[in-house]
Amino acid sequence: MSKHGFRFEMNASGTEQQCDDWDDFSDSELLDVLSETQSFESQRAPDSQVNAERSESPSVSSTSMQNCTEAASGRETVQSDEVRGLKRKSLHKDSFSPMQRFLKRHLSVTLLCDQSWCEMKTVYSLLKPHVKRNDMQRAEVQMGKDFHLSRELEIQNVVPVYIWTREEAEAIKLLNMLQMTRLLEAGECVREFPVFGVLEGVFVMGVIDELRYNQKGELVLNELKTRKHNSMPSSAQDKVNCFQADLYKLLFDGLVRGEVKKEHILDHLKLRSHQVLGAGVQAHAKNIGVHVATFEDVLDAFLVTMSCSDLPCIDLLQLEYYHQGSRGPIGTRVTPFDEAQLREDLKGYLAYWRGEREPKGVDIEEAWKCRSCLYKQTCGWTKSRSQMADQNVAGVSRNFN
Ligand code: SF4
Repeated sequence: MSKHGFRFEMNASGTEQQCDDWDDFSDSELLDVLSETQSFESQRAPDSQVNAERSESPSVSSTSMQNCTEAASGRETVQSDEVRGLKRKSLHKDSFSPMQRFLKRHLSVTLLCDQSWCEMKTVYSLLKPHVKRNDMQRAEVQMGKDFHLSRELEIQNVVPVYIWTREEAEAIKLLNMLQMTRLLEAGECVREFPVFGVLEGVFVMGVIDELRYNQKGELVLNELKTRKHNSMPSSAQDKVNCFQADLYKLLFDGLVRGEVKKEHILDHLKLRSHQVLGAGVQAHAKNIGVHVATFEDVLDAFLVTMSCSDLPCIDLLQLEYYHQGSRGPIGTRVTPFDEAQLREDLKGYLAYWRGEREPKGVDIEEAWKCRSCLYKQTCGWTKSRSQMADQNVAGVSRNFN
């Protein structure tokens, strides 16, 4: 396959790939996930006590949060009873929504998929980001990352661009999208296509692995998954992967229908429209025929391109599974798309982020998920479920005696 394009990369680590927590390895949202957790940690670093209070999940024990804070700061913390008392008082569950507590301006598709596997696990991954970061060092994650990068480099070069502000980071993303939109319109295949939009009032971002037209002229989304085992995934994993592809379609279709507005991007992401872009970003924009000076200029150019483009909504959603060891294909699955059901599921997940309900662990029928969970030692959900099971057993034996 010949190379027909390039993608601007924000820095040397910009090609980081995501690891799906449900064990299939996917695209490049990992960078978002890591930068979110890093910014969460760095923002709480100057006053770990205050921010620890804001970060604690109402259903996660204060011991867990204390451990998290200690681990994040790398030191032992001895808390007095007085401090604990204050902490309990200020942890009124209605004080902050999880979006506020975890300092999130947006959610990623990866995080929502993670949540659909086990919500409690998602909460722990935010409370204990070091555990997740360590897990990302596994050989399988690195292999998945290499596989995705080599696939991307088959069709496009990666051009490093140094950035200094959040506006420049978002400008690079928009310039990449603008360039890929043109390529897609010309009938080329594109990879690592960012998507975003407001879903049920929350700004959601993701990265589509591949978009291309098939022989029937349908626009196809391919979500690449690499697997350690040379077999198709379990139905539970498959369900999460389908959810991911569905979310990408919802976001992409919203973009091409012109549903994403300038104020959505500026307000949700708290970006400064008049921020002047650095010479490097401006020069790279010029290379693709876009003359810009500020972030707003890039935003306008992007929105005009999207509204004038003749890109259709995505016709077909496919999951492509590859074996990590042999790099050979395992199989392809076409996923169904039921927008009404998807929005219903999404509402349920977002209710947690809005602070409308407590986080939940897995149902009893899915308790097998806990066996390989990174947080099984500390998870309050499993402990309370075991206690409940013990009480039930005790009740049954009393009835028999
Ligand atoms: S132990 Fe089970 S319930 Fe707890 S976070 Fe892990 S998967 Fe979820």
